[in-house]
Amino acid sequence: MPDTCSKCKKKVSMWKSFYVGDKVLCENCHKKEEEKIKKREALKSEIVYGLGGWLIFVQIALIFGIIMGAQMLIDMTDVVIYWYLILVWCVLQVIVLTFMYAKNKKFPYLAIIWVWYSFLFVSVSFAGYTFFGAGETESFSIFPLFLWILLLIIAIIGTIYFKNSKRVKNTFTK
Ligand SMILES: [Zn+2]
Repeated sequence: MPDTCSKCKKKVSMWKSFYVGDKVLCENCHKKEEEKIKKREALKSEIVYGLGGWLIFVQIALIFGIIMGAQMLIDMTDVVIYWYLILVWCVLQVIVLTFMYAKNKKFPYLAIIWVWYSFLFVSVSFAGYTFFGAGETESFSIFPLFLWILLLIIAIIGTIYFKNSKRVKNTFTK
């Protein structure tokens, strides 16, 4: 008694039909189905590991941030509170980078603190500059609204990434 392939609806003889679950497949469709499953499994087992992927951008941002912060520390001597906020920012970034290269388990948590500190730091600077005219130096006149929004988006996406990324989970295990 010929069966009907549940995929392509062709009639298949009993000897050439394949049973997958409660579906009947012809030889062709069965082959395709098997390949699909293999591909899916290969994708699943592919291990993402190491400081590549998005972590390349994180490294660049940290190194750039340290250089920028250090430059600001050298340039600014007038607003004491900002100077200390930048100092904390710099030290935090050095710590995050160190934990990153050590592939330390605490890296994702520190990285989340870093993205939020960066956002809050710019918020404080921005608020100080906007509402109190404080720190109206050249360093702070470059903080427009778009940077504040950009850092908020980075902080939110960064938190999701550092918490959920497979690469982060596989890499920071020490
Ligand atoms: Zn078929």
